[in-house]
Amino acid sequence: MEVRALKNPYTDYHETPGGAQYHFDHRGRLTADFAGRVSDKISELLFHMENGLKSADPRDCSVYTGWAGIALLYLHLHRTFGEITFLQRALDYACRSLQSLTGRWATFLCGDAGPLAVAAVVFHRLQRRQEADECLSRLLHYHQFIMRGEGLPDELLFGRIGYLFSLNFINQEFEQEKIPIQYIQQISEVVLTSGESLSKRSCNQEQSPLLYEWHQKYYVGPAHGLAGIYYFLLQPGFGVGETRLLKLVKPSVDYLCYLRFPSRNYPACIGDTRDLLVHWCHGAPGVIYMLLQAYKVFGMDQYLADALQCGEVVWQRGLLKKGYSLCHGVAGNAYVFLALYKLTHDPKHLYRACMFAEWCMDYGKHGCRTPDRPFSLFEGMAGTIYFLADLLQPMKSKFPAFEI
Ligand SMILES: [Zn+2]
Repeated sequence: MEVRALKNPYTDYHETPGGAQYHFDHRGRLTADFAGRVSDKISELLFHMENGLKSADPRDCSVYTGWAGIALLYLHLHRTFGEITFLQRALDYACRSLQSLTGRWATFLCGDAGPLAVAAVVFHRLQRRQEADECLSRLLHYHQFIMRGEGLPDELLFGRIGYLFSLNFINQEFEQEKIPIQYIQQISEVVLTSGESLSKRSCNQEQSPLLYEWHQKYYVGPAHGLAGIYYFLLQPGFGVGETRLLKLVKPSVDYLCYLRFPSRNYPACIGDTRDLLVHWCHGAPGVIYMLLQAYKVFGMDQYLADALQCGEVVWQRGLLKKGYSLCHGVAGNAYVFLALYKLTHDPKHLYRACMFAEWCMDYGKHGCRTPDRPFSLFEGMAGTIYFLADLLQPMKSKFPAFEI
């Protein structure tokens, strides 16, 4: 097996009697000393990021690698630290992203919906209601396109679920049903129909009543594939309903579970036998969110057991040579431990998240590859900062642009 991870140098929680005491107390609150170090590192990395962004692509508006991603980071920092300067920065970057919309895609991460949704929230927080409403009405213009779009993918990065996320993001951030839930439910309907239709056409109904493809492959991970789409279809209130959850979604989730490698990792695509990738976009670190949601919805212990196994895979193989990013790096992998901690309250998972944070705080010292967009939210430093800020309030943490 090709080695893509560095050896985990940290002792595990149970091998470290009292060792977590430096990082957090018995209630899971970070100690002042550790939280202070994390905050100092956030400031230091922000300084580097701002410098690095001076040479970033001025036309990249996206959340994934462009200006809207930096705006989303500053929104997060404003929420975490309450400093108005962060909101001003978010405004600057959100406005910059609005100047370079492409009209090509309508998703949160890689399309125009992300910049519009992020800008709407920034304006809302600044109580600039008219500009917020204008962004919202532009965002809703895409709804018909998403509903009717022939041959449109369903996945998160470029497809219908990526637009659905944008609408839900607005409702969460505005803390009201600013966008009627029917809009979200209508997209779920189209996604269900699309998945049933492909399953029928490919004669896979017995195994997986829902099936989705991206570039002629059945991707498994959340970025392009099944685990991401099922994660959203499993959300209460998104309109799937109990009958179809049991008849369509559950067997499809179970089929995905069945694809697991003996190592407990998951393939990148159906039929792929190479057990190589352990990051959010491909492998166990992305599949876990579907498993935890399936556990919440169906209450079957097997889903939780499988999710806990994802945690073990990430602990063993999650310190990646690819670097510190959210999409395919250590920060993204660390969210696995936060997700497990939020559900189980087991301090082991918080401890592991802290160890991965320690790794991230040694940014650049492990000889890792430099990503193409080294300061961006999903490929670079902005994502690592986002994770470090989330670690300060573990119970409120959420993988950005994905976790509901
Ligand atoms: Zn990736």
